[in-house]
Amino acid sequence: MTSFLLDSPVSRAGYYFATAVGATWGFLMSTGPVERRNGLLVFTGMPKHAFGRGGSCVGGCYLTDTNVSDDILEHEAVHKRQWQRYGMLFPLLYFVAGRDPLRNRFEIEAGLEKGGYVRTRRRSGRRATTGAAPTPAAPTRRRIRRDGDAPES
Ligand SMILES: [Zn+2]
Repeated sequence: MTSFLLDSPVSRAGYYFATAVGATWGFLMSTGPVERRNGLLVFTGMPKHAFGRGGSCVGGCYLTDTNVSDDILEHEAVHKRQWQRYGMLFPLLYFVAGRDPLRNRFEIEAGLEKGGYVRTRRRSGRRATTGAAPTPAAPTRRRIRRDGDAPES
């Protein structure tokens, strides 16, 4: 991908467009408070069908029902940064990265624990180091896209 698309006036324009869409959507649909938090415009009380999973980041807007913990907002702030970097390419790239958050590089970058995708591990120091657990930092696997993702072999 060429650099004029990333972190550029082009991506910024896309980001602002997405933010305008998100804000319009949020103002129309949200029933709860609208707050400025973590650099995000947070719309709460969104109806369930209006966002994905626990919430959606659209440009600089975060749309959710009640999912507004500090961890989540930290996670969503990374998505905002991704919107700024990729502009309107972001939803496309995100889609291509796959629906499984544990493998989606944008979710991994935003933090799977903070995003609530993996259980927070208590760092007691008693855990033996094992390579068995799937770690968010694991290198991206070969991606073979076909209908109905087969379970990993
Ligand atoms: Zn996320």
